Amino acid sequence: MLRLSEVKLPLEHTEADIQSAILKKLSIASKDLIRYTIFKRSYDARKKGAISFVYIIDIETTREQQLLQKFKKDVHVVPTPDTSYRYVTHARSGLAQRPIVIGCGPCGMFAGLLLAQMGFRPIILERGKAVHDRSVDTFGFWSKAKFNPESNAQFGEGGAGTFSDGKLYSRIKDANHHGRKVLAELVNAGAASEILYVNKPHIGTYRLVKIVENIRNSIESLGGEIRFQSRVEQLNIENGQVCGVTLASGEYIPSNHVILAVGHSARDTFEMLHHAGVYIEPKPFSIGFRIEHPQSIIDKCRLGSQAGHPMLGAADYSLVHHCANGRSVYSFCMCPGGQVVAATSEVGRVVTNGMSQYERSGKNANSGIVVGITPEDYPGSSIAGIEFQRRLEERAFELGGGTYEAPGQLVGDFLVGKASTQLGTVRPSYKPGIHLCDLGSSLPDYAIEAIREAIPAFDKQLNGFAMHDAVLTGVETRTSSPICIKRGNDYQSLNTKGLYPAGEGAGYAGGILSAGVDGIKVAEAVALSIQSQLEIA
Ligand code: FAD
Repeated sequence: MLRLSEVKLPLEHTEADIQSAILKKLSIASKDLIRYTIFKRSYDARKKGAISFVYIIDIETTREQQLLQKFKKDVHVVPTPDTSYRYVTHARSGLAQRPIVIGCGPCGMFAGLLLAQMGFRPIILERGKAVHDRSVDTFGFWSKAKFNPESNAQFGEGGAGTFSDGKLYSRIKDANHHGRKVLAELVNAGAASEILYVNKPHIGTYRLVKIVENIRNSIESLGGEIRFQSRVEQLNIENGQVCGVTLASGEYIPSNHVILAVGHSARDTFEMLHHAGVYIEPKPFSIGFRIEHPQSIIDKCRLGSQAGHPMLGAADYSLVHHCANGRSVYSFCMCPGGQVVAATSEVGRVVTNGMSQYERSGKNANSGIVVGITPEDYPGSSIAGIEFQRRLEERAFELGGGTYEAPGQLVGDFLVGKASTQLGTVRPSYKPGIHLCDLGSSLPDYAIEAIREAIPAFDKQLNGFAMHDAVLTGVETRTSSPICIKRGNDYQSLNTKGLYPAGEGAGYAGGILSAGVDGIKVAEAVALSIQSQLEIA
């Protein structure tokens, strides 16, 4: 196959136009084109009013060798690279011990799926509920402020990203095309095939729920087991080697291969690991607020007169500002046409995040506006970042009135340091609701100062960003894990053999796609280790 890149077409074009562009570029007749598939589609919005689509297309042709010769100096006509996934090994039949995966977020789910596909019959232990029951609890909290610390936006089948925008892109290096395997499995489980080729794919909350159930069915049909409401409370270690786990129920499950995919909110589990002596380092993360604007403002800025075109959808943005006080402020997890959500997993604390439905048709755009911090900002033990996050989340709970409403302020008032008393034209989407106040005391002074400087700077890039009535909702503290559970080249903890720290909680992923990719890599390492131990025995 041949890969053709930089194929540009105007916003309004048809399937026939794509085919014509291929024939024209390669100077071939239609009889020589066997078939084509779109590998990637993005749009170029640099010229507002003349937005174009840019394609990368894989082509089967009767004249492949001739064309490769003819275009050998053209970087936009190359042989299609092989991105197919190959299993690193397959389990022998009758394996006595099964690997354990702790956590059923994207990392644990993909680790479990791959182990099951390779015949290793993993046991996946998830502290929360199956996704359907978890949805009832989470949406129940959002509508009635009734909170369940074991079943919420962070905990339960599907992990943290289940009620999200389902953005599926990442900047990770992926030489072995594991990201493609994640996307292909999501499509097998019911995601639209467009996620394989659109530039910034997303799935949306409701669709993700069904996909998660389908992946569970695949794991179980291959001999894997998923146990819900099974919180791992103790890691059993003998002479520096993991030998099993103990659940909150007291049940002990033996295994010398344990994948730890607990996400960034498993603070009690991090504390347990710290006490058990597992090697942990503190790590930078970010803190800030969610900001909400009318989506129409973002669309107008980004897409000009073509705002609202169905092929373009709701526009997104990505902003960074380096402040005079040395801090950097950036937009995080932008959700076009979405909703700000209550994402706490602990009683008496408030945390925000964002989600969207597939259509992204909500009135507001939201994103985290966050400031980078480092372990120097929270000195103490290797897990001191947890207490730092907790203090901010408790302060947010207090400022919100102690009812799980989140503290909120209009951008215009925040910029001049005045408490808000009345909403303007932007209706905040956060449920159970927001409590207007002065957010100036919700974060450390350096963070408030940095965000006050960044918002007007962002307005220069996105006209309207600093609009008076835009709403800030606090606080965003769980942008990534406050710790890194260090692992070696064999993917095992530096001082605890058989423990495979993985995904976002361990500091090896940031987002759904990269967590899934890390799950695959760790599953491969576990499978190879089990096989090599059998060979030695
Ligand atoms: P998690 O998804 O956090 O999964 C960890 C799992 O482990 C959880 O299910 C938890 O219940 C379980 N667990 C924890 N402790 C234990 C224990 N002791 N015993 C048993 N089980 C345990 N990322 C994107 O890429 N795109 C988005 O659009 C996006 N939107 C988001 C929206 C929201 C509201 C949130 C909260 C996050 C969003 N993210 C998004 C981030 C993304 O969800 C995470 O990066 C990703 O889920 C990390 O995957 P993970 O498997 O490493 O951890």
